[in-house]
Amino acid sequence: MSFVRTYLRVLRLLGVESRLAITLALANIALAVSQFVEPVLFGRIIDALSGVLPAASWSAVRTLAPLMAAWAGFGLFIIVAGVLIAWFSDRLAHRRRNMTLADFFEHVLQLPLAYHAAAHSGRQVKVMLTGTDSLWWLWLSFFREHFAAFVFICVLLPTSLLLNWRLALPLLALCVAFTALTALVMHKAQAMQRAVERHYSDLAETAADTLGNVALVQSFARVELEVSGLKSLVNSLLRAQMPVLSWWAVAAVLTRAATTLTLLVILTVGTYLKLVGSASVGQIVSFMSLAALLITRLEQVVGFSNRLFMDAPKLAEFFEVLDTVPALRDRPDAVDPGRVRGLVAFKDVSFSYDGRRDAVTDLDFTALPGDTVALVGPTGSGKSTALALLYRAFDPRRGLITVDGMDIRTLTLTGLRRNIGVVFQETLLFNRSIAENLCVGKPDAKADEMREAAARAQALEFIDRNPDGLEARIGERGRLLSGGERQRLAIARALLKNPPILILDEATSALDPLTELKVQIALDEVMKGRTTFVIAHRLATVRNATRILVFGNGHIVETGAFDDLMRRSGYFADLVRAQFSTSPLPAARGEHRRPSDAVVED
Ligand code: ADP
Ligand code: MG
Repeated sequence: MSFVRTYLRVLRLLGVESRLAITLALANIALAVSQFVEPVLFGRIIDALSGVLPAASWSAVRTLAPLMAAWAGFGLFIIVAGVLIAWFSDRLAHRRRNMTLADFFEHVLQLPLAYHAAAHSGRQVKVMLTGTDSLWWLWLSFFREHFAAFVFICVLLPTSLLLNWRLALPLLALCVAFTALTALVMHKAQAMQRAVERHYSDLAETAADTLGNVALVQSFARVELEVSGLKSLVNSLLRAQMPVLSWWAVAAVLTRAATTLTLLVILTVGTYLKLVGSASVGQIVSFMSLAALLITRLEQVVGFSNRLFMDAPKLAEFFEVLDTVPALRDRPDAVDPGRVRGLVAFKDVSFSYDGRRDAVTDLDFTALPGDTVALVGPTGSGKSTALALLYRAFDPRRGLITVDGMDIRTLTLTGLRRNIGVVFQETLLFNRSIAENLCVGKPDAKADEMREAAARAQALEFIDRNPDGLEARIGERGRLLSGGERQRLAIARALLKNPPILILDEATSALDPLTELKVQIALDEVMKGRTTFVIAHRLATVRNATRILVFGNGHIVETGAFDDLMRRSGYFADLVRAQFSTSPLPAARGEHRRPSDAVVED
């Protein structure tokens, strides 16, 4: 039954073009009826020719001419209708495939980050491409073959029974045999085909994952191991696929046998009926043509069932993603706040990724417009999570976050996020040009604005070194750049957006000390007039912060200005002292930060 449900859902997706779809369906019905009439007319012509009428008389012409004209007319109609149906359904199916793909893409992009953390992008791409391919094929073949085939069978069986029930019985038996065999094979192989599709998705995921880490694969000399890993996936896929193929092969042989048997039975029964005078030669010819047509249609239906069967798991995966509800949606009454001043308040905010263990608990703090708030604490203590709640990557489980006194859940996501610039802990870059990466937050940025932001982030020097300048492409995830260059590009991107609230999540951690100092000076200037949240390990940044929030295990364990905290001799002071005592001042080296400057080893 799940096949029927899947199929109906596939057809419902045509709803937006329902007028054209219904027209095509009606044209198909007309086509099926004509295809049925044609052999019947042909049988009549044969009877007329085989001497039922006096030869070479006017009355013979008068009987034959309309039959011939009707036969030719139907033939012509079948050709023209067939061409028109093919023309329009081709276009319809292609149009719908591409629109559905775009809709799917939009939907996936809105799914919560927690969802994406669990589902590999390689798998998503596979589900998107194979899912839309199946849809395209089902739509196309629905209009070009299947619907006409179904209608044809529905018209043929009752009418042929009326024409000559004894000749029609073998046709009926043939239909029953085809249906039973197909149902049996589907029943036997259903679970196996689901396993096959899972293997295909695993394969896509593994291949994409390996390709995404090709540098790792090569440097650790893992090419052979990775290939053999993939081959073992291919082998288990083939092991799962073979039994399904065998079942369909059995079905093909049995249906072929049933077909030959049916033709033989019609001929034998027909001959007998002719001898006893219950059927004419024309009727026998009609039934033989009908049987041939019926067999073609039945084979189409079986082919369709086979394909639907093979594709059902693909479609199930596709629909499963479509049915995943974006956790964060704009409320119907959500407002766009315009440009905010930057007053941020967390009130008893708790959040858990897995619903069991809190990643952050009871966060309570306020940042006035223009404040710099530093977040320090050991790795995994919840700093990045706390700030992700501010730009609503997730919504808190408990508590309230406000910006300028407005609950952020009452704002549109776009309106909120336009006000927040984020430099992420891991730099996220597109496989596009530097310019395209820079203007992510400000699509209409001019080249000189980009250059200015890049200069402030100390990125201009390496951009200008490349002959293509801003138009240079930077590779997948920016891998044509060094870690420090990627980070400076990410900072420039956030500066270009010029938001009233800025989040710097270890934004300078990959820079060498000299560049870091230069970027930091630029950032200090940029932070003026904005509310800045900075997760940092550099002492200078933390020292200048309006307030420091010390995180420990998801809680804010201490809070205050640098001197307050040092005087208090609590957790923070211990942390700073531990850094000094364990790390004597080394000379600045390459892209390493100075451990002596670190508040927290992160
Ligand atoms: P920090 O930024 O202080 O290093 P995080 O906020 O990144 O810490 O992480 C806090 C806790 O939440 C950690 O225990 C981490 O393992 C967990 N965590 C972080 N991101 C995710 C995620 N996407 N899904 C599940 N758990 C996560
Ligand atoms: Mg972090």
